[in-house]
Amino acid sequence: MVKKTNLEGEIVFKCERCGLFYRNKGVAKKCENWCNKNNSCNYLISKVCIKLNKLQEVK
Ligand SMILES: [Zn+2]
Repeated sequence: MVKKTNLEGEIVFKCERCGLFYRNKGVAKKCENWCNKNNSCNYLISKVCIKLNKLQEVK
């Protein structure tokens, strides 16, 4: 499931398969579909993900 997350007041969407964050829910959904089907990340999708160093530290 794509997970809606509030990040410092900004709504972002997380692909729970690979853990990447996106500002666009549609892209997050695409990523998730890809991850489910291929069990790996589509670099074309993952390269538009949000780089969240802070969140990665928390994780
Ligand atoms: Zn993914």
